[in-house]
Amino acid sequence: SKKNADQPEFLQAVNEVLESLRPVIDANEELYRKNAILERITEPDRVLMFRVPWVDDKGQVQVNRGFRVQFNNSIGPYKGGLRLHPSVNLGIIKFLGFEQVFKNSLTSLPIGGGKGGSDFDPKGKSDREIMAFCQSFMTELCKYIGADVDVPAGDIGTGAREIGFMFGQYKRIRGMYEGVLTGKGLSYGGSLARTEATGYGLLYLTEELMKCHGESLEGKTVAVSGAGNVAIYAIEKAQQLGAKVVTCSDSTGWIYDEDGIDVALLKEVKEVKRARLTEYAAARKSAQYHEKKNGEHGVWTVKCDVALPCATQNELDIEDAKQLVANGVKVVCEGANMPTTLEATKYLQDSGVLFVCGKASNAGGVATSALEMSQNSERLSWTFEEVDAKLKTIMVNIYHNIDDAAKRYNMEGNYVAGANIAGFEKVVDAMLAQGVC
Ligand code: NDP
Repeated sequence: SKKNADQPEFLQAVNEVLESLRPVIDANEELYRKNAILERITEPDRVLMFRVPWVDDKGQVQVNRGFRVQFNNSIGPYKGGLRLHPSVNLGIIKFLGFEQVFKNSLTSLPIGGGKGGSDFDPKGKSDREIMAFCQSFMTELCKYIGADVDVPAGDIGTGAREIGFMFGQYKRIRGMYEGVLTGKGLSYGGSLARTEATGYGLLYLTEELMKCHGESLEGKTVAVSGAGNVAIYAIEKAQQLGAKVVTCSDSTGWIYDEDGIDVALLKEVKEVKRARLTEYAAARKSAQYHEKKNGEHGVWTVKCDVALPCATQNELDIEDAKQLVANGVKVVCEGANMPTTLEATKYLQDSGVLFVCGKASNAGGVATSALEMSQNSERLSWTFEEVDAKLKTIMVNIYHNIDDAAKRYNMEGNYVAGANIAGFEKVVDAMLAQGVC
């Protein structure tokens, strides 16, 4: 619509979701129109935008813009990550918040949808600068969140270090020790398996999808993009399940490793040293490093059976999709949020590729965050095995829910539609039950 014309990512996400919901909307046309369901579900409950002033190591005051979009709390407190990246703007946060509503619904857990972040760039900042930013960010954000209100989490640029600084500041200002953030460290209320959850969950769903189509990951070649939290644990689990992962990437280049990615080395480079992938290539004979060049297709040029985009939005376009299909890809499951463009998604689906969108396949992260909330509420910590087993059950159920939803509307195999329908139906049911609000 005209009022969001300056928010292309948000319009893209809304367009994609509503387009795939057409059969549901048509079947309930009068009810939805009378209750303005589409107008309400595409308008966030509220948008918070605020100044984040902080002092850098040279004594200079810097100013960033902070965001929190509380999109929909019909089925539970707002829940969604905080993204710290220079590309962050209102349209991106709204797109992520909108998608989060349906993703959280799909987990079957009681969590609403929200998202936040800032155009702050954590790269190259000292620990003290990161802390100064996080404290200032939370000084404003703490007025609007709470364990039963809105529970932010990590996302791009927000890892355990940033969550720790933000949690400390929340506690200090509000004087409350509560599970207001997830992705916390294990010594102060974090959940075992949260770090691994999105990547592992992606593979649990992929495994179930393949099993239901008479396939398995055993012996398959997998291409992964990204080298962050999602990518690292997707690679780890894929290898545990018998696949060979031959690629990973970051914002400056990508790796082809014919012997399969060495996850321990990748963790050392990315999690410990926070360095570029050139360091991975330097330490490993079988790896080739390719500089990222505009217009080149990077990891998607590599021959693979399964492709798992785990870096960022719109990283797999129509040309990439054509390359993948030409190379015989059978399965594409999204680890990142909206990494595949709409055109590329259609092309993959039309080519008979099994394609699952992020709101279903990467829901393991937020699901495990909700499990962290449960543990905080009962002031207990579950074992790694307990959390991991629950995560696996949730991901297997998500696959079957989206498969069933697609079948109910005669769209068997269209898991994008299935995910949107299954997520949407639950939220709408709750909205209708709660009246005009
Ligand atoms: P990280 O910050 O840990 O990693 C992101 C990775 O993507 C890095 O390798 C980064 O490269 C690369 N990247 C980021 N921005 C760009 C860009 N503009 N162009 C190219 N590469 C880029 O984030 P996560 O792994 O946590 O998140 C990845 C995706 O998964 C995001 O879409 C996120 O929203 C989604 N997601 C994450 C969840 C989680 O639990 N972490 C849960 C659900 C979804 P570099 O190292 O150079 O920065």
